[in-house]
Amino acid sequence: MEFTAAYLWSRVLEAARGRVQEQTYHTWLAGTAAVGLTESELLVEAPSDFHVEWLEDKYGPLLTDLIEQVLGRPLRLKVQCGDPAPPLSVPTVKVAAPGSTPAPTAVGTSMPTPSLNERYSFDRFVVGDNVELATAACHAVAGKPARMYNPLFLYGGVGLGKTHLMHAIGNAIRETMPASRIVYLPTEQFTNDLVTAIQNGTTAEFRRTYRQMDLLLVDDVQFLQGKERTQEEFFHTFNALYDAQKQIVLTSDRPPKELPGLEERLISRFEWGLVADIKQPDYETRIAILRKKAADDDLTLDHDVIDFIARFCTSSVRELEGAVIKLLAFSSLTNQEISVDLARRALQATFGHEPHSARRGTSPERIRELVAKHWHIPEEALSSKRRTKDLTVPRQVAMYLIKDLLDYPLVKIGKLFGGRDHSTVIHSIRKVEETMVGDSSFRRSVEAVRDELMRPV
Ligand code: ADP
Ligand code: MG
Repeated sequence: MEFTAAYLWSRVLEAARGRVQEQTYHTWLAGTAAVGLTESELLVEAPSDFHVEWLEDKYGPLLTDLIEQVLGRPLRLKVQCGDPAPPLSVPTVKVAAPGSTPAPTAVGTSMPTPSLNERYSFDRFVVGDNVELATAACHAVAGKPARMYNPLFLYGGVGLGKTHLMHAIGNAIRETMPASRIVYLPTEQFTNDLVTAIQNGTTAEFRRTYRQMDLLLVDDVQFLQGKERTQEEFFHTFNALYDAQKQIVLTSDRPPKELPGLEERLISRFEWGLVADIKQPDYETRIAILRKKAADDDLTLDHDVIDFIARFCTSSVRELEGAVIKLLAFSSLTNQEISVDLARRALQATFGHEPHSARRGTSPERIRELVAKHWHIPEEALSSKRRTKDLTVPRQVAMYLIKDLLDYPLVKIGKLFGGRDHSTVIHSIRKVEETMVGDSSFRRSVEAVRDELMRPV
């Protein structure tokens, strides 16, 4: 596959779709097409002058931001009027099966549903150890909604596949039970819709809409924190659906118990069904994901290049995807073949540091030294037999970083820390990975050390 204007624009539109109302997307964005790409500009055609004006004025900043996110560097967006497009597609309104309750009506002026993204299917999801339980639970829920785990609560860090899995459940149910009423809802939209309903005096309609659903997918419930009225409303919606034996799926960046500013009664309900976590993918899973993405997008990437990206991008799947897009863009804009060397330059340019596998300055000694400094302990204590918490935590971090950055064999790592066996090393690495997901200040500490290690000497 070639990196074209159309490809770039399709990724930007996909990102935009999660950020604007579905109605807005269909009205203003769905009918556009990218027609040109140079090193400094992306040229997009819209169906009318009115669209051009609207896109430039209202959505220009958002779209320019998204282009930079996708591409890793800024690019000017120019919108011009193209050939009149075929009539814009109207958002589909589901027709309920005969005899069932009527399909929900719009709330105020907006439909409550950003529709499901078809790319987010089970087929496209790579199942590594990190998501095994979560994925199995999602399949179970898709096969027997409201019978197995209700609610299903998925949690994990950013870019690890929560939204993807949630859509995959929706897509699967839509296929096997086409009459189901499904709503996918970022938590912020639930809040916004509620505010609009209160302003317009249409809260009764608002309630009816959500309570008629067969499947309610609510993404990122951590954003309920501190919003009392939304929590109250959500509590009743939850109960109504639960009592009617409708399936509820929720995601969050942390487990229910650790959600701050959330009412106890909500937390306890979130724990009624199954709570499954999603961890960071390990090296092998990262390779499998990259292979799958390449195959899905008809892209030929040598093993060396895949290996390089997998070593370079360790924190999330989103980062992996972004790296591939950046590499494609770099190759196409500079007219060079994709190679490890090009990947190194492309990713270095955007991430601002050298990939660790390519960094000569990093060594186990340096990692130990920096970790000890950061946690304020003498370096020798990392190898001592003492197991007080002030020592075990930095010891585990040092082991984790040596594995992650230098990919040393476990036995060798154990030797570096006073001859510990490999199962202790595995346990330490897992512990760090897990804690990083749930504890953001810990994660920042580890990342600070990692950043310092990456900095050119
Ligand atoms: P989250 O909601 O956890 O922040 P997303 O579901 O938005 O993460 O995932 C980020 C990107 O990574 C999406 O494009 C998604 O398709 C992709 N992705 C995440 N996990 C996987 C996986 N296991 N296999 C394939 N693609 C994945
Ligand atoms: Mg998400």
